[in-house]
Amino acid sequence: ANPNALKWSKAPCRYCGTGCGINVAVSNGRIVATHGDVHAEVNRGLNCVKGYFLSKILYGGDRLTTPMLRKKNGQYAKDGEFTPVEWDEAFDVMAAQFKRVLKEKGPAAIGMFGSGQWTIWEGYAANKLMKAGFRSNNIDPNARHCMASAASGFMRTFGMDEPMGSYDDIEAADAFVLWGCNMAEMHPILWTRVTDRRLSHPHVRVAVMSTFEHRSFELADTPIIFKPQTDLVILNYIANHIIQSGRVNREFVDKHTSFKRGNDDIGYGLRPDNPLEVKAKHAKDPNGGEVIDFEQFAAFVAPYTLEKAVEVSGVERGWLEQLAEMYADPKVRVMSFWTMGFNQHTRGVWANNMVYNIHLLTGKISTPGNSPFSLTGQPSACGTAREVGTFSHRLPADMVVANPEHRRHAEEIWKVPPGTIQAKDGYHAVQQNRMLKDGKLNAYWVQVNNNMQAAANLEQETYPGYRNPDNFIVVSDAYPTVTCQAADLILPAAMWVEKEGAYGNAERRTQFWHQLVDAPGSARSDLWQLMEFSRRFTTDECWPAETLAAYPQFKGKTLFEVLFRNGKVDRFPTSDIEAGYANHESEAFGFYVQKGLFEEYAEFGRGHGHDLAPFDMYHQARGLRWPVVDGKETRRRYIEGADPYVKSGEGHKFYGNPDNRAVIWALPYEPPPEVPDDEYDLWLVTGRVLEHWHSGSMTMRIPELYRSFPSAVVFMHPDDARQRGFKRGEEVKVVSRRGEMRSRIETRGRNRMPRGLVFVPWFDAAQLINKVTLDATDPISKQTDYKKCAVKVVIA
Ligand code: SF4
Repeated sequence: ANPNALKWSKAPCRYCGTGCGINVAVSNGRIVATHGDVHAEVNRGLNCVKGYFLSKILYGGDRLTTPMLRKKNGQYAKDGEFTPVEWDEAFDVMAAQFKRVLKEKGPAAIGMFGSGQWTIWEGYAANKLMKAGFRSNNIDPNARHCMASAASGFMRTFGMDEPMGSYDDIEAADAFVLWGCNMAEMHPILWTRVTDRRLSHPHVRVAVMSTFEHRSFELADTPIIFKPQTDLVILNYIANHIIQSGRVNREFVDKHTSFKRGNDDIGYGLRPDNPLEVKAKHAKDPNGGEVIDFEQFAAFVAPYTLEKAVEVSGVERGWLEQLAEMYADPKVRVMSFWTMGFNQHTRGVWANNMVYNIHLLTGKISTPGNSPFSLTGQPSACGTAREVGTFSHRLPADMVVANPEHRRHAEEIWKVPPGTIQAKDGYHAVQQNRMLKDGKLNAYWVQVNNNMQAAANLEQETYPGYRNPDNFIVVSDAYPTVTCQAADLILPAAMWVEKEGAYGNAERRTQFWHQLVDAPGSARSDLWQLMEFSRRFTTDECWPAETLAAYPQFKGKTLFEVLFRNGKVDRFPTSDIEAGYANHESEAFGFYVQKGLFEEYAEFGRGHGHDLAPFDMYHQARGLRWPVVDGKETRRRYIEGADPYVKSGEGHKFYGNPDNRAVIWALPYEPPPEVPDDEYDLWLVTGRVLEHWHSGSMTMRIPELYRSFPSAVVFMHPDDARQRGFKRGEEVKVVSRRGEMRSRIETRGRNRMPRGLVFVPWFDAAQLINKVTLDATDPISKQTDYKKCAVKVVIA
């Protein structure tokens, strides 16, 4: 065979939750070309600018290739210098630190922070190692910062997570409404489909809503700039408009919905001594609520008149009326999209519930083109964070640690003793940072995320925790990020096609890929790291003596034996690996690791509405949308004829809830914790840009992307700049009650700001805008609000 011949294989894109298919060409052990997969339904051969240069993420000049431990005089020391070490030494020191903490403080002092970039089996293995092995629920994904509100919103309304529709709805919709998402830059391939639909069908309308004008406004028929947080008022106004204009689909509402009034905690998730925090009025079950009827709901939203919406939101009445009519008109099929504008919101769960309200009142749901659709930012935010349940309160298949029946079921599948999984929710992302700082979380492993750039209120809360002398911090990454620099031990990670993987995108599509090339140096996948580390612990070191007395068969076993060689995970031989592909983990451990983990994981969802196909099917298919029953994927859920869980004659059936009804929630407007005042006189919004993905740890290393947007800037209205005496390009400081950062003023370009609001992207490690942001969270989802805080901008 010609060693220079190209071998093409398929893989999903490494970046966003769109989940584009990529064809990858390998020659001589190196990726030499990629292109959009013409057979991929999602992107039909296209990629965005990030996807075109995807292969280059593997070949940055500063890839981490060996573990690095802080050492002084030949020993680990918190104030030592990073020194290259072998894996054995790295794991020995790490295990000694974890054992010390386990012995002194118990499992509650152990924690882990992962992401929606873990492959499905990596997240599953991490979940098992933490929740069953170390018996700590302190594992959370950075998806907590990204779409926890969407997940909680789905659970509250439908009793099941993730969208009912799929991207197929784009080609059937008559109207698109973007609620706080800039699809033109953040989901560009989906935006090409929306644009195609709009431009080829003149009747189609697009409404774009945001707190500032961005590139998606170029397609907007109804452009709406609203004041921060007032989306809640607009949502209730639309519900009121539908009711007042007599366009409620009563047959649908009577048959398929129920009504509740929220009785949620109204805190902002700040530390109790923060003057911006308020005392919680309620601390009740967020899914509880008070049962009401349609008339009570109508009375609840009645005060949200057009006049009130105009007054509070600052939007012209004509635009609001147009928007409300898109939803109210029974002939218009509407697709609503949202991402961070809704989710990173102190009332993010409510915003999610309220957009479902208007789809449910009109019955515009689960039929072609009628689709409330929560987009995701990470490639496996759905597949790994949500479906695998790597949140500190969750288990796979929408189960939760607080439910004894769910714990029992998980313990059965995992073949661990009853009572192994702790009943109490672990620390969520923001709490983890606080507990590290307060010395209550002491052994901490960060994988596949860059929290020292991504977390809010970095200097006051996050950095002090990582450098707390009581703590041992491990960071696994492919590149030396700012998070690595704050660690005690850095572990070099394999990335993307350097390992076999699986991601789940925003439309419930599970996609697999093979390992196509080797990782550089001694870099290893997160999965290998998790499993190899588990060999260094015995059950005697991690589980209570009484458990081992009652279940002596576990005594003296390593966590590796209990969790990964338990007769379920190790049941598939390496000969099952498709011919022609390497698989480092399986070669290292002697069985087909990914297949065993996936098949064990799939037991959670099969028969419970989350059915996954057999493992081997995914290596052949271009992804399949769950539930996959009898080999058939599901494009649309909760409706007969499309969803295998809905029988003929049932029509719609929201089977996630025991009464088969979706909940319409009566929820009010609540103000944000911090608003501009005389001193901090501007709103700050943070977000992303087209060229860089999240913290830029990959895309800033691609010369073409780096050059096109090399550093963050402060987008500001020209009159605001003039009033402060700033010239375009001038260096300024953005200052809040929490900290400050330096950047340059930009009054032109892709974003046009209203007066009184600035936008700063967060991809630039040299300009950490999260030193400034507020660590307020939604009280239900615990997701951080990065879209609103008060700042001033002054000359540097
Ligand atoms: Fe597709 Fe997103 Fe990758 Fe761009 S970044 S190619 S839109 S998956």
